[in-house]
Amino acid sequence: ATALSIRQLNKTYGNGFTALQGIDLDVAEGDFFALLGPNGAGKSTIIGILSTLLNKSSGTVCVFNHDLDQSPAALKRCIGVVPQEFNFNQFEKVFDIVCTQAGYYGIAPRLAAERSEQYLTQLGLWDKRHRVSRELSGGMKRRLMIARALVHNPRLLILDEPTAGVDIELRRSMWNFLLELNQQGISIILTTHYLEEAEQLCRNIAIIDQGKIVENTSMKALLKTL
Ligand code: ADP
Ligand code: ADP
Repeated sequence: ATALSIRQLNKTYGNGFTALQGIDLDVAEGDFFALLGPNGAGKSTIIGILSTLLNKSSGTVCVFNHDLDQSPAALKRCIGVVPQEFNFNQFEKVFDIVCTQAGYYGIAPRLAAERSEQYLTQLGLWDKRHRVSRELSGGMKRRLMIARALVHNPRLLILDEPTAGVDIELRRSMWNFLLELNQQGISIILTTHYLEEAEQLCRNIAIIDQGKIVENTSMKALLKTL
């Protein structure tokens, strides 16, 4: 099956700036895929469209065969998104942040609490569950964002620069966590401007530059050309 299929995706912002031009992209189910490119290339714009926070200008986007235009709710249920910016309620408790998110997906409170416990434990945050989010370190907030993105058990996890500003030790433990998730069958797409991160994690990559895909290949093949 195909986790993600994008055809001729274009995005022009309100100020007339064209951030994406004719993007074609396929990510197979089970893949660990990197969207690599310099700052300003258009990576976050793609993620904004996938998470339905941004409108596309034209083109088609399908996630597990759910078309963004025809069934946005079904598409949203399939994906978990970890945005780049922290966007928590500063005064909400860690446990409640994850449970509240589960509520948005219609998950019953008891199951929401179970899932929240499961993911907070896996991400090493269970002992912080009573803290309000503004008391957490940057690395803890990053992990909380991942727990929150997983609470509805998405089939596709999308992370925007997941290890930006994260120290090397935590970076490695986050990499291991993501590799485990992927081994459990969750398809993963991340954006990064570190080739090393893509090299450690990903089987396939696309390189985006100035709103266009300039390379789309396996990590192995890319490394041979370097
Ligand atoms: P990346 O995530 O690869 O760093 P972005 O998708 O954030 O790139 O941005 C792609 C381009 O679109 C950049 O040139 C950026 O300045 C521009 N851009 C992003 N958001 C807006 C916006 N709201 N209005 C106009 N231009 C924007
Ligand atoms: P149930 O839905 O079975 O009644 P609870 O709501 O009692 O479950 O919560 C299950 C677990 O979540 C317990 O371990 C509890 O301590 C923890 N928990 C519940 N609410 C919070 C909260 N606001 N902050 C932190 N932990 C909580």
